[in-house]
Amino acid sequence: MSVPPTPSKDFIREIIDEDLSSGKHDGTVTRFPPEPNGYLHIGHAKSICLNFGIAQEYGGRCHLRFDDTNPTKEDVEYVDSIKEDIQWLGFDWGDHIYFASDYFEKLHEWAVGLIEEGKAYVDEQSAEEIRKGRGDLQNPGTDSPHRDRPVAENLEMFQRMKDGEFGDGEKVLRAKIDMAHPNLNMRDPVLYRILHAEHHRTGDTWCIYPMYDYTHGQSDALEYITHSLCTLEFENHRPLYEWFIENLPVPSHPRQIEFSRLSLNYTVMSKRKLLQLVEDSHVSGWDDPRMPTISGIRRRGYPAEAIRDFCKTIGITKFKSTNDISLLESSVRDVLNRGANRYMAVLDPIKVVVTNYPEDQVEEFDAMINPEKPDLGMRKVSFSRELFIERNDFLEDPPKKFFRLAPGAEVRFRCAYFLRCDDVIKDEEGKITELRCTYDPETRGGENPPDGRKVKGTIHWVSAKHALDAEVRLYDRLFTHESPDNVEGSFLDHLNPDSLEVISHAKLEPNLAAVPVGKTVQFERLGYFCVDLDSSEEKPVFNRTVALRDSWANAQNKS
Ligand code: ATP
Ligand code: MG
Repeated sequence: MSVPPTPSKDFIREIIDEDLSSGKHDGTVTRFPPEPNGYLHIGHAKSICLNFGIAQEYGGRCHLRFDDTNPTKEDVEYVDSIKEDIQWLGFDWGDHIYFASDYFEKLHEWAVGLIEEGKAYVDEQSAEEIRKGRGDLQNPGTDSPHRDRPVAENLEMFQRMKDGEFGDGEKVLRAKIDMAHPNLNMRDPVLYRILHAEHHRTGDTWCIYPMYDYTHGQSDALEYITHSLCTLEFENHRPLYEWFIENLPVPSHPRQIEFSRLSLNYTVMSKRKLLQLVEDSHVSGWDDPRMPTISGIRRRGYPAEAIRDFCKTIGITKFKSTNDISLLESSVRDVLNRGANRYMAVLDPIKVVVTNYPEDQVEEFDAMINPEKPDLGMRKVSFSRELFIERNDFLEDPPKKFFRLAPGAEVRFRCAYFLRCDDVIKDEEGKITELRCTYDPETRGGENPPDGRKVKGTIHWVSAKHALDAEVRLYDRLFTHESPDNVEGSFLDHLNPDSLEVISHAKLEPNLAAVPVGKTVQFERLGYFCVDLDSSEEKPVFNRTVALRDSWANAQNKS
């Protein structure tokens, strides 16, 4: 009997397996630790899927912890959006929601402890002097003139910092580690800074705030995190992370493990740049469907399942790489192909008059709601004498293998009839305004007629008098440059001017009126489209989530 191969695990899950089988831990506790200073993006989704995914797989738990140590950039708006996004992605922190600011008291107490043990001191140098004194990779740093201040004086000064006696930046508390350490992060890092700023949770209780590095690991330890998973840029912060754990009376010893960040081509992911796109109105907001934010992706109509699938596909490694956005799009197509109901919609309408069809007659045809889910059954679509078809489904002078409509040619109008084009009507400028066609009553329902005649093409259509008018927004990549983060000059110079095309008079099958905001459907032959929150009773608005095929790849192959 052959044994099925065990699916290969990423290196983090291998470490966890070892820690569980060696008895080092008897369960896993992970955390997702966002700073509430922006909206989450698809990169965060990778970390969310990893941390919450491990909790699910190992029967452990995953905390949501806001690392809110920088009051000047943080806001409850961000806290709320982050919670919403994680839930939308399908994950649940249960009762385990925490804020680093809840630990400010404890962190302060521990800082006082470090001072008492001679492991921290108040420095009065300016930020610039401290930076210079730190040295660089070739040169050791130089000691601050305040490094050997007596403990009692440090304690008093730190108290006065806390009491608000000094202005922003006048003094800092630094750890006393090693000014010649090969790792710059170990050269007496700053633990506390003075910031007379109101915090979104602690108000004006504090005017000294702990630095991120001094907060993060201790928060992990206070929450009994077993595996503290972070991105590679924290690799050389690990010795400091461990120094704090060793030198403070923490209740547990988490292990920091780094993995590579998600990065995607044709977009930017840094919160600073995303904020700039929003603030300078290059996009309509954090949830603009072109944004790589979770809220943008959601508004665009990407299903959460597709994001999870995508994160699974790219996996967890230590290698830096950029993923192709078309890989994400293909996860989106896979999920939508299975789940999205089908409808007909015409984006660039041209009128068809069926000359042999009675003026006032209307017939209802059955069309499948979703061929992938036959149980859903059929929907009704109305056919009448005047129809709309897609302008590019007709060519007056077609090339050889054009199987759509052309003068004299016959095609199937999906689930209705075979129609033949007899006449082309144009305006003075030569623009086609109408096509005159005749239908064959023997092809009812789009069936082949008794004479066995066949057609190669099937096109979609909408009955003119039943059609629903809609706005449809077509999106393309936000940047024309594959790597807008690595360009000379500004990333803004590479914004795609055609990233949004608005079609204001699309014609939709009326069944689409019942589709709720946020739901994604398939417009047959065109792609997947999602009802936008800008929709009104009078005029629905649809976002193109993704085309049926990767037209970008096709276009590039052609050029
Ligand atoms: P910044 O620190 O510039 O504000 P950030 O992207 O690091 O931005 P955080 O809120 O600190 O934002 O991130 C929360 C968590 O998400 C961190 O653990 C971080 O490592 C992880 N993370 C952020 N960006 C990515 C990414 N592109 N890929 C994978 N994980 C990421
Ligand atoms: Mg960060």
